[in-house]
Amino acid sequence: MNEEVNNDVLRQRAEKKLAQNPDTYLGTLIDQKRLVHELQVHQIELEMQNEALIDARGQAEIALEHFSELFDFAPVAYFILNPDSSIRQTNFRGETLMGKPRTALLGKKLILSVSIKHRPDFQLFLGHSFVHSGVQSCELSLDINSKTIWVSIQASANINRTTCLLAVIDITERKKAEETIFNQAHIDLLTGLPNRRLFKDRLQQALVNAHRQQQQLALMFFDLDHFKYINDTLGHDAGDELLIEATQRIQMCIRESDTLARPGGDEFTLIMADIHDPNGVDRVAQSILEVMAKPFLLKNESCYISVSIGIAMYPDDSENADELLNKADQAMYAAKKLGRSLFCYFTPAMQTLAENRLRLSNDLRTAINEKQFSIVYQPIVELSSGKVEKAEALIRWQHPSKGSVNPIDFIPIAEDSGAIKAIGEWVFLQVADQAAIWRKTISPQFQISVNKSPIQFQTHSLGYRDWVEHLQALNLPGNAITVEITENLLLNATQAITDKLIAIRAAGMQISIDDFGTGYSSLSYLKKYQIDYLKIDRSFVSNININSTDMAICEAMILMAHKLGMKVIAEGIETEEQLLLLKQAGCDYGQGFWFSKPLPAVAFERVFKVKD
Ligand code: C2E
Ligand code: MG
Ligand code: MG
Repeated sequence: MNEEVNNDVLRQRAEKKLAQNPDTYLGTLIDQKRLVHELQVHQIELEMQNEALIDARGQAEIALEHFSELFDFAPVAYFILNPDSSIRQTNFRGETLMGKPRTALLGKKLILSVSIKHRPDFQLFLGHSFVHSGVQSCELSLDINSKTIWVSIQASANINRTTCLLAVIDITERKKAEETIFNQAHIDLLTGLPNRRLFKDRLQQALVNAHRQQQQLALMFFDLDHFKYINDTLGHDAGDELLIEATQRIQMCIRESDTLARPGGDEFTLIMADIHDPNGVDRVAQSILEVMAKPFLLKNESCYISVSIGIAMYPDDSENADELLNKADQAMYAAKKLGRSLFCYFTPAMQTLAENRLRLSNDLRTAINEKQFSIVYQPIVELSSGKVEKAEALIRWQHPSKGSVNPIDFIPIAEDSGAIKAIGEWVFLQVADQAAIWRKTISPQFQISVNKSPIQFQTHSLGYRDWVEHLQALNLPGNAITVEITENLLLNATQAITDKLIAIRAAGMQISIDDFGTGYSSLSYLKKYQIDYLKIDRSFVSNININSTDMAICEAMILMAHKLGMKVIAEGIETEEQLLLLKQAGCDYGQGFWFSKPLPAVAFERVFKVKD
């Protein structure tokens, strides 16, 4: 077709030239030839261009096909989105991710599949991706077919900012793994509650919020009373069951927005943010006390425990997380001291007490080396004969600035810090030396009682071996020493404690139960352990008169002890009447200010040495 047109043009041109100027016809012929040649060249060029075009289109079609395959079969879900988040195109992975065929996805808004929690984030992200050049990325969750899918998204808009390409990867498995690792590090596996680390984070966060919103916050610190007893008597399974049930009971008393945590052992903490009515804190604490006072059914046994609660308030008590926790702990300690199953708010007086405790605890560390301790001895009198062949060793601490500090005040601190172990060893060595002396100077049967704290039984080293060796070195038989323990030790006796008690007896030393009647008195352990002496606590002795209940209790204790083959020592006899009543009741020994206050060794020997 082109060729025909060209020939026509050439012919017309030649005819026109011939008519205008026949002389130049020859020249025209030559021109005509050149023209034909030019046209042929032009035609070849056109053909070549045409071929190149066809070639380019073919290549473009192939590239498009490749690209489309790449897009469709890419191992990543792709979505091409319009600015309103409607899906313009997606690929196979996109269909799989969304659980729908492409036809059902095109035109639909992707944002509707983004979890409600993350929708604002996604909207922001998309807006950002359309405005800013380059690749943007984010992680969020989608709600698809009632399943939560975590995805990582990379997005970049085209040059005209009309569409945005999202590359979406399912990271649910990675998120699950991350969550497991997080949970292992932050969640208490038994109760599912935040552990100490997460609790501290939450407290920090809650304090920041409370500060920002100018609100009050209450921090409660709970400690289960006698949890150890359940653990030791019914086993750790029962203890675990108790903790789970306790968690559920506490959760029933609190709001969803409150954070309950288990920082460790039998301790729980509760963050109550957004406090408008301080009475609300009281009500929660009270209801927790009530639910916890109900029996727990463990291994078919009804068990009773209780909880002591300490409360500290932000911002009144402190604005700092650690300090607030410390103050709630102090308040809890006060609640325990006041008789357990109580709640106490932190007061500045508790702070002073705690500071004193801390100072004393530090001072105790150097007290032995600085020779600040001494021992006084209180006679234990045989009531039938009036003979004094026994004494109780009682420690005294002469503090360099505070003067004399009562053992009631420093022994618990020494127990908390562990200093009691060294102190107890020191006391024993002094007492053994003293017993050796008094066996020569007062009576060959002389026997001294040493108070031994339950903490001393928790050491891994078998301290009693050193005791036995020391007695042997002094050429003293075991019965020169009586070890005074409390009922609670036997109540919580593990196998290790039982072994140590057996070893003490095997070495010939005797065992007294001190302050009997004030703890959890149980006949079963009196039967189980071979106890030599039962010491009736001063609180019973101080109130006895002929028809008093305390008299009846003392009589019953004496009767029971004798039936079980034990001797009885009455503590704290202060009057002649008390002495006579106890004597009548058949009490074997007495100790108290009526006979003598505790005396330094020299004074004791002067008073009780039998005069020749
Ligand atoms: P405890 O073993 O029950 O000692 C008896 C306490 O009652 C002693 O108090 C004693 O001075 C006091 N007492 C004795 N007779 C009377 C009396 O007629 N009236 C009154 N009101 N009190 C009387 P102390 O010496 O203050 O000791 C208190 C507690 O400290 C002891 O109670 C014992 O549990 C502990 N303790 C003392 N020395 C040691 C020790 O070396 N090691 C350990 N672990 N604890 C010790
Ligand atoms: Mg004692
Ligand atoms: Mg006592």
